[in-house]
Amino acid sequence: MTDTSRNDADLDAYRRRVRAWLARADIPEVPLDLEGRFTVLREWQKTLYEAGFVGIAWSRKAGGQGLSPLHQLVFSEELARAGAPQPIGLIGVDVVGKSIETYGLDWQREQLLPRLLSGEDIWCQGFSEPESGSDLASLRTRARLEGDEFVINGQKVWTSWAHKAQWCALLARTDADAPKHRGISYLLVDMSSPGVTARPLVQMTGDDEFCEVFLEDVRVPVRNLVGGLHEGWAIAQDTLSHERGSYTLRRRVEYEVAVEEAVRDIRGHADAVGTEPPDRVLEQLGRSYTAVRALEALTRRTVRRQVAGEIPSPLDSVDKLGLNEVEQLLYASVTDLLGPFRLAADRAPFGLDGPRWVKEHYYSRAASVYGGTSQIQKNIIGERLLGLPRG
Ligand SMILES: Cc1cc2nc3c(=O)[nH]c(=O)nc-3n(C[C@H](O)[C@H](O)[C@H](O)COP(=O)(O)OP(=O)(O)OC[C@H]3O[C@@H](n4cnc5c(N)ncnc54)[C@H](O)[C@@H]3O)c2cc1C
Repeated sequence: MTDTSRNDADLDAYRRRVRAWLARADIPEVPLDLEGRFTVLREWQKTLYEAGFVGIAWSRKAGGQGLSPLHQLVFSEELARAGAPQPIGLIGVDVVGKSIETYGLDWQREQLLPRLLSGEDIWCQGFSEPESGSDLASLRTRARLEGDEFVINGQKVWTSWAHKAQWCALLARTDADAPKHRGISYLLVDMSSPGVTARPLVQMTGDDEFCEVFLEDVRVPVRNLVGGLHEGWAIAQDTLSHERGSYTLRRRVEYEVAVEEAVRDIRGHADAVGTEPPDRVLEQLGRSYTAVRALEALTRRTVRRQVAGEIPSPLDSVDKLGLNEVEQLLYASVTDLLGPFRLAADRAPFGLDGPRWVKEHYYSRAASVYGGTSQIQKNIIGERLLGLPRG
């Protein structure tokens, strides 16, 4: 047996195991409201973790399963096939946790990461500031070293889940005199520390999923530093790369579930009323399905890069741009079918779940902003992949 066929056999066996588990699992219905969604998906994360399905490609030391990114891909595909949701703590699992696993101290890996994977601790990412989004390196939150503690002062914004989080991976300036990329450190902040205030902001979806975070004389032990002092910029790039690459992989699975749900509802409705859906419905669904399949092909390449250890890479920006375009196309196309019933979504035509599609459509507008805007991804692609001059 060659290595390749052994790997394929191993993945097939893993797929059968996942499928059998999901067939027996009590897959939750996800409420539309934020509180309900948070509670249900956190519980679901715990269930998945206990079954060994969160942190599949993470090291065992960090609470993971020590398998490969290909196993993670198989699991994600089966999750989609079963119509099951993703866990809630993805900023931890897919974004900041991976950087802590790579760059963190032993105590950080061993004590913080298993709780992150199980959903016991929710994590947020404290990067953006009111004046520093695309130009992240200009951030002004300061961390002053005093004995064996950092004292942090400043403000973050758009910090997703900050009001629910136990921990924050935060960027702060530790050397004000160094060139802007060189004076930044990557710190792990306990959100219950005195001086941390998370004030929720309401989005156009009606949810308050992200926050402004104020930091006033927040004391953080030196052992919460990840990597070297003033050397946080490289780790921030690693985190952003995960947000653009691995996160896209997950979201793609959600799009598959969404397309399948739309098809199922429309087909069920057509059967019930005894008429075929009009051509424009088939056209919109066809476009969405094609886009989701194209993103699948793109993410397969990402998994190969993960297996080969080729992350971070400017190619992550191609994934993020793909995510944005597919997400916005999918949710706009299906929501378009609601026509004027967008305003009375609970009476949506074609058997569609109107309120869900309208909400997803609104949320999809954020895809071209978080993790670095689409313009920024295009700049990276232009400069670093195509070798074009800086704009
Ligand atoms: C739903 C959501 C969740 C988020 N969650 C988090 C989070 O958890 N943690 C966190 O730290 N941040 C988070 N963000 C913030 C996000 O990373 C920033 O919004 C993003 O990086 C853009 O920064 P900005 O909003 O300051 O816009 P700006 O940087 O002010 O950009 C404004 C506009 O100018 C354009 N622009 C700026 N510079 C250039 C350039 N050089 N070339 C071309 N165009 C340019 C941008 O593309 C954009 O259209 C989140 C954002 C959203 C929408």
